[in-house]
Amino acid sequence: MKDKLQILTPQGFEKGDKPQKMRLNKKTSCVRCGKCCSESSPSLMREDMTLFVSGVLSYENTYTIRDGERVRSKGDGSIYESFVELIKIRDKEGAAVCVFYNEGEGCRIYENRPSQCRAYKCWDPVNLMKGLEEGALKRSDIFGSVDVVMGIIENHEVKCSYKKLSDAFERLAEGNGDAVEEIMDMLQYDTYVRPFLEEKFNIPRNAMDLILGRPLTDTINEFGFKVARDGEEYILLPLEEEK
Ligand code: SF4
Ligand code: SF4
Repeated sequence: MKDKLQILTPQGFEKGDKPQKMRLNKKTSCVRCGKCCSESSPSLMREDMTLFVSGVLSYENTYTIRDGERVRSKGDGSIYESFVELIKIRDKEGAAVCVFYNEGEGCRIYENRPSQCRAYKCWDPVNLMKGLEEGALKRSDIFGSVDVVMGIIENHEVKCSYKKLSDAFERLAEGNGDAVEEIMDMLQYDTYVRPFLEEKFNIPRNAMDLILGRPLTDTINEFGFKVARDGEEYILLPLEEEK
C-alpha cells in the first residue's frame, strides 16, 4: 500500500490479537483543513500587490511588521526579531487564526490567496523565509506614489524605529537612566501621531497598522515592558511587576 502510512499503535488490537494499526491517508494536495492558517500568517510578497489592486487585500486585512520589530511565534511562543519589513495578513480579533479562515468553509479567498499560502504544502514543507529579503512586499510598493504617506512613514521611522528603541532598551539594561526618557518620547510620538494623522489627512483609524505598523504601546511587551497610564501621564513598567 504505497499511498498509505501505517503506524502500529499500542492503543488496541485488531481481530486475531494483532496490534491495531492507525491508518493515515498521506496528503498529496491541499484539503483546506486550515491547520496552517492558525499556525502562522503569510507574509506578502511583491507578486501579491495585484491582490491590493483587485481589492482582495486592503488596510482592513493587513498590517506591517517593521524592520527590527520583535515578533512572537504562534508555534512555540519564541520571540524573533524581524530582519526585514514585512506586510502580513491580520488575525481574527482575539484569535491566532487568519482573518480569511472560516471554520467549516476554509479560506474565503482560496482562489486569490497570497503566494506564500500557495507555496506552502504541509506534506512537503518549504522554507517560506527564503526569498523574503529580496521579494517581500513593502509599504513603499503600496504607497510609493503617495508622497504624503511616504513622508509620514519616513518621519515615523526617524522618530521611533525599532533600531532606536532597541538601542535605548540596551542602554537601559546597562543602567543608563536617560534611556527611559528616550523610550517614553518614542512611545509618546507613536501614540499621538496616529489620531493626529487620522484627523489631519482623514486616514481611517484601521489603516494605521499598515501605514505605521502596530502601536508601540502593544509591541513593547516583547521587550519585557508595558505602559501603564497614571492620570494624564504614561509610565513604563517591567512586565514582571504586573503580578
Ligand atoms: S496546506 Fe494547510 S490548509 Fe492545506 S491541507 Fe495542509 S495544513 Fe491544511
Ligand atoms: S489567506 Fe487563506 S490560505 Fe492563507 S492563511 Fe489565510 S485562510 Fe489560510
